[in-house]
Amino acid sequence: MNWTTTRPANLPKPTPTGQTRHQLVSRRLAPGVVGCMLAAYLMAGLTYWLNGTHGLLLGLTVFGAAGCVALLGLFRRGKLDVAQAISWLSVVDISYIIVKFFYLAFVVPDQQMLLYALSSDFLWTACTPTLAYSVPITPLARQFVRAQPVAFTVLSALYLLLHHPADPRLVFSLVQVCFVNWAALVLAQRFSVTLVRLLRARKDNETLTRLAYHDELTGLLNRRGLEERLKEMLAQSRATRTSVAVIFLDLDGFKPINDTLGHQVGDELLQSVARRIGRLTAGWAEGARVAGDEFVVVALVNDPVHLERDARDFHAALSQPVMVQGKRVELTISAGLSLYPQDAQTAQDALRRADIAMLSAKTSGKNKIRLYGRNLHAEGEYRQAVTHELVGITGRNELKLLYQPIYDIRTGQVASCEALLRWSHPKLGNISPAVFIPLAESNGSILPIGLWVIRQALGSAARWRAQGLPGVRVAVNISPIQLIQPDFVMQVRRELEAAGLDGRALELEITEGLALTDRQATIELLLELRKLDILLSLDDFGEGFASLSHMRDLPVQHIKLDRSFLSSVDEEDPGSVRYNRALIQASLQLAEALQMEVIAEGVETPAQLQLLRDLGCHYAQGYLYTRPLAFGELIEHLGFRRS
Ligand code: C2E
Ligand code: MG
Ligand code: MG
Repeated sequence: MNWTTTRPANLPKPTPTGQTRHQLVSRRLAPGVVGCMLAAYLMAGLTYWLNGTHGLLLGLTVFGAAGCVALLGLFRRGKLDVAQAISWLSVVDISYIIVKFFYLAFVVPDQQMLLYALSSDFLWTACTPTLAYSVPITPLARQFVRAQPVAFTVLSALYLLLHHPADPRLVFSLVQVCFVNWAALVLAQRFSVTLVRLLRARKDNETLTRLAYHDELTGLLNRRGLEERLKEMLAQSRATRTSVAVIFLDLDGFKPINDTLGHQVGDELLQSVARRIGRLTAGWAEGARVAGDEFVVVALVNDPVHLERDARDFHAALSQPVMVQGKRVELTISAGLSLYPQDAQTAQDALRRADIAMLSAKTSGKNKIRLYGRNLHAEGEYRQAVTHELVGITGRNELKLLYQPIYDIRTGQVASCEALLRWSHPKLGNISPAVFIPLAESNGSILPIGLWVIRQALGSAARWRAQGLPGVRVAVNISPIQLIQPDFVMQVRRELEAAGLDGRALELEITEGLALTDRQATIELLLELRKLDILLSLDDFGEGFASLSHMRDLPVQHIKLDRSFLSSVDEEDPGSVRYNRALIQASLQLAEALQMEVIAEGVETPAQLQLLRDLGCHYAQGYLYTRPLAFGELIEHLGFRRS
């Protein structure tokens, strides 16, 4: 790929192993400190030995040195961590110092030696608390560190009381050692508290910054992180005269998956998609999750010549089935692509335009990627206006149903009438269901609309039955979003009762997409509907990506062939005619094996009808018979044909 990218400069980098700086420093310092102490003991021991000093002092330095060697060995072999090594060092050192003080002050007692010790190694003891408080030491070591100034004070006071030393230097040194020890302890404690606070604040700050720029569920950038990144990329692209590609991705049919299989499955699906985005974009682009099932990928593009092909490859690689909790979930994605500076001048605009292109892909059949173009801009604005107007639509008298009869090819009788929704808006004019149904599905207004359609359609069916067409069913298109509502079956039953009809008067048209989410739940729901004697048909068969194996257990009675099956029947090209013929034949064979009947949609010419008749297709619907009609026209039409 010709796309390049770099990590955002101002976004925080993850901490390496979770260790704090404090621990890292101590890890390197600990052996050094123990080593220094070892050297000090060895030197003191050597001095005592050369001077022929008292045996106990020599023994003490050997004890200190041996302690240090043991600690170094244990530390190197990993038997001690930093805190334990420093803790034991403190215990050894403080024991050594206090025993030595006691020995020089009361056992020997030797004023000269005491004075020498007070002005040299006893002063050094002030370092112990500072060192000890730089790591989280053990409780025993903490007791020792706190006891050290107390022991010095008590021993000094006792010495002064018992020996009344005449040498003012000795008195001064005793006071000085006590003072320095207390001061060191207090300062070390303060330092430790401040250090802990600082580290905690820094960690909190890092966590906050990470959360502010990243999505918690997927670890990708969130909207804010993306905007920052985009701004940087735009600046980079201006400086290097390159372009920035923005791909807006929206999972198709995520809501039914989330609602039927549960939110945990939904979350895992999003995480799988995010991982796949991360893998596919590694090294050349940056991925973000900007809302529920919406993702964005941004990349610097050196050469936009092959951009379209690359983007299509990326989209194809992304739209592969994923395994979630052992279930294979068919994943398709609608995507839109915009380019800076060709399509937009700001980060916001680039995002908005990619979004518009994505919506266009969504409403023109889903599972595809669309490039932003000027015409799409107007389309996007239009779609936004339509979405806005969908709110409260069923209360505004702008919807109506048209009915298109479906004929039994063998008898020529009308078997049912499909209810097709029409929306006539005072300002926006007539809006096609192909445009507003997907928008209503994404903002939830399909639920009141769907209920309104069922109610109206059943009302009409009751009327035409009363007018002498008893056997004619009404076929209603049902969106997957309606079907996954837990009270859907009850709602339908209630509407049938209110219209005074039984289930045989109704046929529900469901789409392939539904059968792919949770097959078992779908089958159970359809069986519930079958218990009410409602007929079921699988609409738009062949248009989408239904796998034939999924159809086996579906309790549907009719398959509606998409009108693309008939598209080339009248064409000159014998190859495509043969192909379409074979497709229809195969569908009829499949239907026969599954004990289903086939309805052919979009029959427009006598040649198409003749082909269907020759192949043994059961039902037909299309402009050849009639366009969808208003209720009054339908009654007229049916009356005319009956007479
Ligand atoms: P569909 O259910 O496959 O409906 C058939 C579509 O084909 C209708 O388009 C119909 O007017 C059109 N059609 C029928 N015969 C012919 C023909 O001979 N030639 C051609 N070219 N087209 C023909 P329409 O009314 O625009 O509806 C489009 C889609 O919108 C429907 O496809 C259906 O999926 C959806 N829809 C319509 N009404 C409703 C509704 O009440 N609820 C839901 N959920 N979806 C609906
Ligand atoms: Mg239909
Ligand atoms: Mg259809």
